[in-house]
Amino acid sequence: MGYVDEVLARVKEKSPNEVEFHQAVKEVLESLRVVIEANEEAYRKDAVLERLVEPERIISFRVPWVDDKGQVQVNRGFRVQFSSAIGPYKGGLRFHPSVNQSIVKFLGFEQIFKNSLSGLPIGGGKGGSDFDPKGKSDREVMAFCQSFMTELCKYIGADVDVPAGDIGVGAREIGFLYGQYKKITGLYEGVLTGKGLTYGGSLVRTEATGYGLVYITEEMLNHHGKSVKDKTVVVSGSGNVAIYATEKLQQLGAKVVALSDSNGYIYDENGINLDTVKEIKEVRRGRIKEYVETHPNAVYTEGKGIWSIPCDIALPCATQNELNLDDAKTLKSNGCYCVAEGANMPSTQEATDFFLENNVLFMPAKAANAGGVSTSALEMSQNSQRMSWTFEEVDAKLKDIMVNIFKKADDAAKRYGMEGNYVAGANIAGFEKVVEAMNAQGIV
Ligand code: NDP
Repeated sequence: MGYVDEVLARVKEKSPNEVEFHQAVKEVLESLRVVIEANEEAYRKDAVLERLVEPERIISFRVPWVDDKGQVQVNRGFRVQFSSAIGPYKGGLRFHPSVNQSIVKFLGFEQIFKNSLSGLPIGGGKGGSDFDPKGKSDREVMAFCQSFMTELCKYIGADVDVPAGDIGVGAREIGFLYGQYKKITGLYEGVLTGKGLTYGGSLVRTEATGYGLVYITEEMLNHHGKSVKDKTVVVSGSGNVAIYATEKLQQLGAKVVALSDSNGYIYDENGINLDTVKEIKEVRRGRIKEYVETHPNAVYTEGKGIWSIPCDIALPCATQNELNLDDAKTLKSNGCYCVAEGANMPSTQEATDFFLENNVLFMPAKAANAGGVSTSALEMSQNSQRMSWTFEEVDAKLKDIMVNIFKKADDAAKRYGMEGNYVAGANIAGFEKVVEAMNAQGIV
């Protein structure tokens, strides 16, 4: 059995129930096969892959809090500190009922390569809880966040581990988490990113993942003689990533015709009115179906099915495994020629393979959505310098980073004879830097 297959088998054997983690490891190692096989003897001797797939540390903890009825609730919190080879652990916190150890490990593993690819000095981590902020009062969310941070603060720090937001963790949650960290530790430091602008946040962080996604999509299209201008785009989700991807697409002259949430999707053939979506999602915390109340020409459909809408470009920006092989085939047969992943691992392995084999330009998450963590790293730099950069300065740096990520992925794919395969290119470029840093630091 080859080294890659041996390690894949061992990962399954050691953590049999962690299917999302298996999927992420398989996706990465399969695309690295050519690099690994070229260095198999040395990598095997140094157990490079075994060290890579084993988190440096996993913290799992109880989060008790009191709801508005006086009832005590208990959730489970996690932080996986996966790799500090190239910098302090960095990665978001996700609050969603689906969160478990497999989910945080898959996200933390992917984060290692994404952060490496960004070119910034940040290691890989991820965390979260099975707490669901949906339908909770602000006081309940605060009580939960304070309890969560009371434990988490023992393990993080501005030069140790710097969490950020993810699904279910936005500006409100980051504020409550930061306040509690400060109260317990007495430190006013850049321990979280995605902070509000009045207490150390960076301009463009809110927009960064969505904007970055569109910058790299445009770069990939330009490389193939195309552009987003005048194209029809379907974006899934209607959270942070989806909203700001839509905003940048509209600024660049594309027409976004659909958005969704976990209940269903809207189709507006005239183009989505983003002000309405922001009002529903960012102000009222409502459901996407409310859109049709003020836009009666638009159609709301309950359930899945957003990928059946004809488009030139598809940007999955909701959650993992939201786009399967059938969806991929439908997109292609409707004329879609470009897919870029705003969410983490939104395409199943079969869907990804289909895109790669059928000439669909495909930018994987770890490259496509790296704008968020990159701008988080810019927030860390500003905090360390006690400085704030302007919107234009941060936006220009973000764009530069995304263009460089495209170049690195493109170059690595070409070096290994896989031109146009940005899945392999992104994984190889991210992997090479991490392995070099691991080797330099010895067996630790
Ligand atoms: P938000 O919580 O702001 O939005 C998530 C969106 O996806 C909501 O519209 C939500 O609908 C929908 N969604 C969540 N779970 C499901 C599900 N199981 N089925 C269908 N729809 C679902 O999160 P973000 O926009 O921040 O994150 C979206 C994705 O982007 C995630 O995969 C995240 O890991 C990734 N990402 C985010 C970054 C960031 O900076 N925010 C950075 C890099 C990656 P509903 O409201 O109904 O739950």
